[in-house]
Amino acid sequence: MKTLTLDEWDSKYVVGEIEPFAQGNTMFNRPAWDGEVNSRLDDWSFVGEVKDKPGYGLEDLALRWAARRGTMLLSHFNWYRPNPTPMSLAVKEMFESRDPSLRSITGYKPPEGKKIDVCDLERITRIVKKAALWFGADDVGICRLDKRWVYSHTFQPQKAGHIASDRGAGVTGGNSVPQEIPQEFRHAVVLVFSEDYDMMKYYPTHIAHAVTSMGYSRMAITNNYLAAFIRHLGFQTIDGTTNAVSLTIPMAMQAGLGDLGRNGLLIHPKSGPRVRLSKVITDLPLVPDAPVDFGVTEFCDKCGICADNCPSRSIGRGGRTSEPNSISNLRGTKKWPINAETCRMYWAQANKPCTTCIAFCPYTKPYARFHRTVRWFTDHLRWADPVYVKMDTLFGYGKPESPRNFWEEWDPKRH
Ligand code: SF4
Ligand code: SF4
Repeated sequence: MKTLTLDEWDSKYVVGEIEPFAQGNTMFNRPAWDGEVNSRLDDWSFVGEVKDKPGYGLEDLALRWAARRGTMLLSHFNWYRPNPTPMSLAVKEMFESRDPSLRSITGYKPPEGKKIDVCDLERITRIVKKAALWFGADDVGICRLDKRWVYSHTFQPQKAGHIASDRGAGVTGGNSVPQEIPQEFRHAVVLVFSEDYDMMKYYPTHIAHAVTSMGYSRMAITNNYLAAFIRHLGFQTIDGTTNAVSLTIPMAMQAGLGDLGRNGLLIHPKSGPRVRLSKVITDLPLVPDAPVDFGVTEFCDKCGICADNCPSRSIGRGGRTSEPNSISNLRGTKKWPINAETCRMYWAQANKPCTTCIAFCPYTKPYARFHRTVRWFTDHLRWADPVYVKMDTLFGYGKPESPRNFWEEWDPKRH
């Protein structure tokens, strides 16, 4: 694995002016305001159904939805960002007006005049990274805040949460508000949450989607801990959990946490695309990490397994391009643009999220000795990439596991 300078990274991924991206253009928000998208959906909620089929029972769906509770709790307590939700402002107001003693929870400040000494930036960076890991992240990196990835406008759908449009609800609208990040916020701590490989194998059932839900809950809670930790050191934070505030993938790449795959996801060196990401933006000075290159671009060029197995054909088979598929792709970057419209339409049709392009990806496999060795070869002998791709298909990796005996055999482990 080699490191890149930010200029080298830019010359690989940036092909022109990056147009400011508005949060309303993400596919989760478009049904709320885009009549064309909305009219093509019967149901955008993908709540999932209970079926008389292994992996789709009530206990499986219950696991999926219960695992998501962390995001719901935290979205009501996150007023540390430029345009907090009306709900979180109401909760803050309620805490402060009902009982002034609760202000210690809502607005803790370190003792007067106390602020961590930042003379030794290496030390403070180490402290923040260790705290992030202890709070629950599986990996952590630091990047300078690059404003090109920050949303020009935040968006809040009229209907709360990601269920922007229920069956028959039509366009419900939302608030698009310009977002300003003050100049003093110069760094971001980017957090990685790996997902359970053994459970992801049960895709496309509710069991695999429970893992995704858990990733979002873990990030919401851990992000909140870390943001509070930095505030208690005497510095400010903007809590960017669950895709809030900015586009996280380019930030994670600049923070040295992985490279971009054909499936549009971050490929982490150990967990591949089997990760969820969040970030805390701060005015605490930190030492940034460097972007990394471990052969992902070359491997994806030869591979295309995700494209072949995508049920909605939303992943291209060609080379990287700067041509976007729709307004949901960021303009000005060179990549394999996902067709977010057909992808999310498929989710709506199937009434559940899809993780096929994660499950099939050769980088998804656990970072055990054999796969570690293969990854070493994909990094160091890149000319042999077609052989690794063939081997992956021959071994039948990525095929779903039967969930028939899941609850009997499941041996839950701490992440
Ligand atoms: S999530 Fe599913 S439908 Fe969407 S791009 Fe990946 S494989 Fe295709
Ligand atoms: S499946 Fe293959 S082409 Fe797709 S992201 Fe993974 S390595 Fe790249």
